Amino acid sequence: MNVLVINCGSSSLKFQLINAETEAVLAKGLCERIGIEGSQLVYQPAGGEKEKTLADMPGHTQAVQMVLDALVNEKTGVIKSLDEIGAVGHRLVHGGEKFACSTVITEEVIAAVESCNDLAPLHNPANLIGVRACQELMPGVPMVGVFDTAFHQTMPEKAYLYGLPYEYYDKYKVRRYGFHGTSHSYVSKRAAELAGRPYDQLKTIVCHLGNGASVCAVQDGKSVDTSMGLTPLEGLLMGTRSGDIDPGVMEYIAKKEDKDIYQIMEILNKKSGVFGVSGISSDFRDLEAAAEKGDHAGVRALEAFEYRVAKYIGAYAAAMNGVDVICFTAGVGENGPDTRKAICDYLGFMGVEIDDEANKVRGEERLISTADSKIKVYCLPTNEELAIARETLALVKK
Ligand code: ADP
Repeated sequence: MNVLVINCGSSSLKFQLINAETEAVLAKGLCERIGIEGSQLVYQPAGGEKEKTLADMPGHTQAVQMVLDALVNEKTGVIKSLDEIGAVGHRLVHGGEKFACSTVITEEVIAAVESCNDLAPLHNPANLIGVRACQELMPGVPMVGVFDTAFHQTMPEKAYLYGLPYEYYDKYKVRRYGFHGTSHSYVSKRAAELAGRPYDQLKTIVCHLGNGASVCAVQDGKSVDTSMGLTPLEGLLMGTRSGDIDPGVMEYIAKKEDKDIYQIMEILNKKSGVFGVSGISSDFRDLEAAAEKGDHAGVRALEAFEYRVAKYIGAYAAAMNGVDVICFTAGVGENGPDTRKAICDYLGFMGVEIDDEANKVRGEERLISTADSKIKVYCLPTNEELAIARETLALVKK
């Protein structure tokens, strides 16, 4: 069965058409600037050239229509008719406490996701627009929702509660949820396969280090803690997000700079992280280039980032009373040997030893620790689309 995987944002829509049995990607691409002037479709069939088509996409329905047209196009399409799409898998960001696993999308499910909109106002409504557009253009095709938060619903109360008045949890479900769950789940499972160990008897720490970044502790196949919280703002220093700070900082800056809460949140989300600390860029390649030239602004941002990741790994090793495997994934985790090495240098006390030759890898699965290392360390590319296609196939087949 072919599964169309859709990751719909407010002005963009990423897609992959995957043969869920062979797991081959038949085509992939994205629509950019939906609802904005200059919208375009980028489409790439497997083994073919990337093609860009500028076209008006006033809404997501037009964007999905363009994707479907491209997939069945006589010259560059990969299927003959839309009947060859057996199901659609949608990435949904926030399922609150309502969804601990993926689910077939029904009207009740849509209503339940809508009830979580306040928790992810930028993401959930956009995800649902994508669902509606697909339903309109592919009536009768089963749709499955795969949540970023679901994998972390196994976190124990002691890990998900904030040190706040309990009534805010009771009344508003203010708690830690975590994100990147599809990635943490995929990577931790794959690590168990690579290590040749049973997934349900392994302690793994996954470092998903992209523009957004989070660390997850996976014990016996379950997420027991993760660094993002109610929103993706908590935890690591990220591209532009601050991660953990003293909440008192917010009041202090608000007073000094005469800013309201919305302006402060904008700073914490968009102007902070390695971008804010360096004043150069949120892209690690730019920071590494600056550091190589001896620019301390690049050095201080990279060091603050690496230090924070190492601290979380230490904390999660304590949370699980040990760790067998550490994985690095996503943009920086897969492509940043120096960053991986710098993080692991803090972990020598736990018996982590990196093989510098093996660590030269970029974007490939590889064991990067030495044979003597007490903990296996992997560079392990994530594949959220494949994970969504697998979940979708499993639910639709039932
Ligand atoms: P997201 O999906 O959260 O937008 P990605 O997982 O694509 O993020 O990661 C993007 C980050 O990966 C960028 O900040 C970039 O700095 C980093 N990155 C990508 N390629 C490289 C590379 N070759 N070396 C170092 N960093 C890289």
